[in-house]
Amino acid sequence: MSQKINGVKGMNDLLPGEIEVWQFVENTARTLFGRFGYGEVRTPMVEDTALFVRSVGEETDIVGKEMYTFEDKGGRSLSLRPEGTAPAARAYIEHSVSNVEPVSRWFYMGPMFRYERMKTGRYRQFSQIGAEAYGAKEPAQDAELMDVVVQFLEALGLTDVTLNINSLGDDNCRPAYHAKLVEYLNAHRDELCADCQQRLERNPLRVLDCKNEKCQAVAGAGPNVLEFLCEPCRTHFTDLQRKLGALGIRYVVNHRLVRGLDYYTRTVFEFIASHPALGTASTVGGGGRYDKMMKGLGGPDVPAVGFAMGLDRLVLLLKEGGKTFTAQPDLFIVAADVDAACQDAALALTSRLRREGFYVEFDTRGGSLKSQMKRADKSGARFSLVLGGDELRTGQAKLKPMAGGDLIPVALGSVAQTLRQAASQPSSPPSLKTRE
Ligand code: AMP
Repeated sequence: MSQKINGVKGMNDLLPGEIEVWQFVENTARTLFGRFGYGEVRTPMVEDTALFVRSVGEETDIVGKEMYTFEDKGGRSLSLRPEGTAPAARAYIEHSVSNVEPVSRWFYMGPMFRYERMKTGRYRQFSQIGAEAYGAKEPAQDAELMDVVVQFLEALGLTDVTLNINSLGDDNCRPAYHAKLVEYLNAHRDELCADCQQRLERNPLRVLDCKNEKCQAVAGAGPNVLEFLCEPCRTHFTDLQRKLGALGIRYVVNHRLVRGLDYYTRTVFEFIASHPALGTASTVGGGGRYDKMMKGLGGPDVPAVGFAMGLDRLVLLLKEGGKTFTAQPDLFIVAADVDAACQDAALALTSRLRREGFYVEFDTRGGSLKSQMKRADKSGARFSLVLGGDELRTGQAKLKPMAGGDLIPVALGSVAQTLRQAASQPSSPPSLKTRE
């Protein structure tokens, strides 16, 4: 017997039955980003490795340890994208978008790849939905972006999520903070985990990211970045907070929030869920301002701010909420007779009603009346209709409400109208439909 081949570790299949909740999240995002004027961008899954080295940063875990990097047949070093901000920036620069419009708002969704240690909510192929706003350096843009996330989470029904914000300052004020942090961490070197002792040498800000409790305690008692902000950075941060207040968005200022990427300046933020289902993978999304990245990648001097949400984690939270996202058929058609005329008529009626916009099920295998009725029951259809010799002769049938109630007489030529009357409107596309 041939050996079975399994999928790659950390990369999941999504089958019908599960995909509906993903489609619900994706459709909600599309609707919402549209309202905020964000247009969809799709970039390739693979980029020049240098793109991530120069933007995300060589010393970050993402680039240093987690990237799927390979040489193609032409000897180029390519990487599967570990995140979406750098590819979008690359496309923005490559297509000279800043020459065409002063402010651009983009969103993207799709798979990202990181060779991470797996657990609940952490995979090697995972999906992100993200948005980027280019060209506006004002705190109003940061606030608008956070409003997108807040409204997105509201639309998904995920309200138990806390927004954390911080400012990392800029090239003007960060060096003084950096020097103080290094001095402080060096004095507490022995209390740090082995990884952080290395981070201290190469990228001390990363110590603040460490999940190790001892490192967190050390970092928590260390210098506060907000006390080092220069005047313009301080004003940006206070203005942002005022605007969040005006939008009615609740937030927590967390001076230890740095995020694991190098490209941020000033504002950084994260949305953290408190549901136990996510365990330590509780950050559902995050982002920040990256005013220097475009120039650093050889592009124009254009400020930018963006975020990315982890779809896998949003889906985990939604599944915990107990909603069902699979669509129920409007109608299940049962062919009462095994003869070809009855089977063909049932198939044709099914097709006609689908063309009219209804979700109709019909068992193409035929089978006994009893077994088809059983399947109609299991399908969760709102109505069933039995089509046999009598119905074909008289042109009259009966709609049976599957949840109980009186049979509804219907002419075979007007099933659509009767269904519409009975159920007020035809079924919406499966992905948009939810049921408590
Ligand atoms: P990051 O780019 O690391 O800030 O990630 C943004 C969001 O993507 C996180 O808040 C997570 O929700 C999600 N995410 C990041 N890495 C993974 C992963 N390995 N598996 C699943 N989701 C992830």
